Amino acid sequence: MAILLKGKEVSTRIKDELKNEVAALKEKGIHPGLAVILVGEDPASQVYVRNKKLACEYVGINSFEYLLPESTTQEELIELIEKLNKDDTVSGILCQLPVPKHIDEEAVINAIAPNKDVDAFHPVNVGKIMTGNFDFVPCTPAGVMELIDESGIDVKGKECVVVGRSNIVGKPMAMLLLHRHGTVTICHSRTADLAEKTKNADILVAAVGIPEFIKGDMIKPGAVVIDVGINRIAPKKLVGDVEFEAAEKVAAAITPVPGGVGPMTIAMLMKNTLKAAEINHTKQEQ
Ligand code: NDP
Repeated sequence: MAILLKGKEVSTRIKDELKNEVAALKEKGIHPGLAVILVGEDPASQVYVRNKKLACEYVGINSFEYLLPESTTQEELIELIEKLNKDDTVSGILCQLPVPKHIDEEAVINAIAPNKDVDAFHPVNVGKIMTGNFDFVPCTPAGVMELIDESGIDVKGKECVVVGRSNIVGKPMAMLLLHRHGTVTICHSRTADLAEKTKNADILVAAVGIPEFIKGDMIKPGAVVIDVGINRIAPKKLVGDVEFEAAEKVAAAITPVPGGVGPMTIAMLMKNTLKAAEINHTKQEQ
């Protein structure tokens, strides 16, 4: 049976460490603050925003919430972001995605000042992730790296397969594994013979968005399996992108859903906000 990589426990440990760091920063007169913007009333987004606010409260970060109506225009949203860019009490800014269809997501991402872009979606930060000299790491891939470390496996020289190539998960995930000297394969919807690729993986990351898509027989015995997927298949039932019951019999370590990657994402957001507070404080002093 595989070891369970319990993101919930690891994230609590990280948040406890961050709580101490926030207290130390406050003694130096640095007060981290996170502005979270939500446009519209998507129920999943509302849950994510609420959890982010709770995490801020837990670690002692000031949280500023902007719950805007669905009818908000792109101009109004960008005006708010520009105001927050200039606000010294705001260290980090996050606009919960997806935004309503009448708003251009890319324009919103580009409007956030790179030094406050705690999601690390701005092209400046994406570029920095490519070169390996980055301030902020996208929260989900960063959380995955923490869980891989938790498994005790050294990424160096390992076959790493990432299924999914989105800008927010798959691509940055692959880069982080590459920076840690993994041999990385990125798979997507046009990949020929996916199972042949996944069966080769010492570290398999599934970020597909299809419930239980990765079957047990697609996993190499002894692999570390990281399931990023969050799929609601019934009002109170969440499953990942990996068929958990079959996979845990084959893998050496696996993340559960829920309680795996999800809580890690929020812990990493808190970490990025602290980093932003430090960076921006140094800038103000210069
Ligand atoms: P996207 O829909 O943006 O990307 C999905 C990726 O999966 C695409 O690259 C797509 O390929 C690939 N894909 C789709 N079908 C197949 C297939 N049949 N075979 C191989 N690859 C396929 O999703 P995200 O990256 O945003 O999210 C992925 C999952 O992770 C979702 O379940 C989401 O809810 C979850 N998630 C969880 C987070 C957390 O905190 N735990 C945070 C963010 C996301 P192609 O590019 O060719 O279309």
